[in-house]
Amino acid sequence: MTTELSQEIGRIAADVRAGRRLSASDALTLYRHAPTPLLGTLADEVRARKHPEGVVTYIIDRNVNYTNVCVAKCNFCAFYRPVGSPDGYVLGFEELFRKIDETIAVGGVQLLLQGGHNPDLPLAWYEDLFKAVKERYPTFKLHALSPPEVIHLSRLSQLPVPEVLDRLIAAGLDSVPGGGAEILVDRVRKLLHCYGKATSDEWLDVMRHAHRAGLRTTATMMYGTVETDEERLEHLLRLRDLQDETGGFTAFITWSYQPEHTELAGQEATGVDYLRTLAIARVVLDNFDNLQASWVTQGGKVGQLSLAYGANDMGSVMIEENVVRAAGASYCMDEVEIVRNVENAGFEARRRNMHYEILGAPIFRERNVPRMLELSTAREAGDASVPAELRLYPARSQQGKATREQSN
Ligand code: SF4
Repeated sequence: MTTELSQEIGRIAADVRAGRRLSASDALTLYRHAPTPLLGTLADEVRARKHPEGVVTYIIDRNVNYTNVCVAKCNFCAFYRPVGSPDGYVLGFEELFRKIDETIAVGGVQLLLQGGHNPDLPLAWYEDLFKAVKERYPTFKLHALSPPEVIHLSRLSQLPVPEVLDRLIAAGLDSVPGGGAEILVDRVRKLLHCYGKATSDEWLDVMRHAHRAGLRTTATMMYGTVETDEERLEHLLRLRDLQDETGGFTAFITWSYQPEHTELAGQEATGVDYLRTLAIARVVLDNFDNLQASWVTQGGKVGQLSLAYGANDMGSVMIEENVVRAAGASYCMDEVEIVRNVENAGFEARRRNMHYEILGAPIFRERNVPRMLELSTAREAGDASVPAELRLYPARSQQGKATREQSN
């Protein structure tokens, strides 16, 4: 490294330590050239300033994918099945209730509910599902439908996004997960075949409307496909701008692209790339309170290291996972294991809700909960059952119409 560059990095590091906001070019210099230990230290200092109490949080919830049928066909996705595929599924209301019962039994407080863009599930299906969940489980939370799913419903129902959100909120939607952001740069989105499902502006607009409607949401970034370093930073800066405007994001989560079984293929980013990306996000996103570790894509050990690179939250105990598993990664940590990693890293572990309010100490220290040594899946292998209530909702695709006619 030249003396000039080293001095430049020293100046930028001093800015971070003084709490000054980084410009795009300073952030790029730091991301590209700062030694990894320095980047980690700066991120850790920002984390410690925001969370001086030395607590690392996590939530007990269940990551449920209500359908894998999707017309979007993103080329980085190993999870979706096209309309009419024998492997396509839609979960029934009763199946979802069973999953909620199991989640509550281990101390869980919400579902993270996301799925494919299924043309045969109209808005009324979601409204009825949310209402039914809230009737049975009034305090249970629905962290549901990422921005591209909301846009899909807006197109399907021919209603504007704010109206779709209002209807979902009236039915029981509590917050919006930040999925489907990938990289918020349209050049990248076109290459990943996800520009059609949501442009960068459209993704941000759903979040803007959700925040205006009073919901808190999360933000994500999937890196490691075709984007440049500049584009990763552009993504972060666009999130920072919207957070300045609305203050509605609770947290940021980044993970690396998982290439197995995808059309795009390629290689997964390394652990150092993950830690550097997490650290630069912690430094750039000065108006975000919380950064999650993505142990589900990086594994428990890198997940634990994330706590030294800017993360203050271990995300979700999860119970179930389908999307990352489809792309070849299958890590599992139950509450006992998450807490062991948090405490071993020198922090206190606390359960939280979606608003990052502390709910208490680890639940396994309060009562007996079964150990969970592997994550559940949406369905048992070979279960191709079609939920009875589906016939009540009109289908849009030819295959969907034919199947509904047969069942009526
Ligand atoms: S990432 Fe989501 S929208 Fe894209 S193909 Fe997969 S399920 Fe569909």
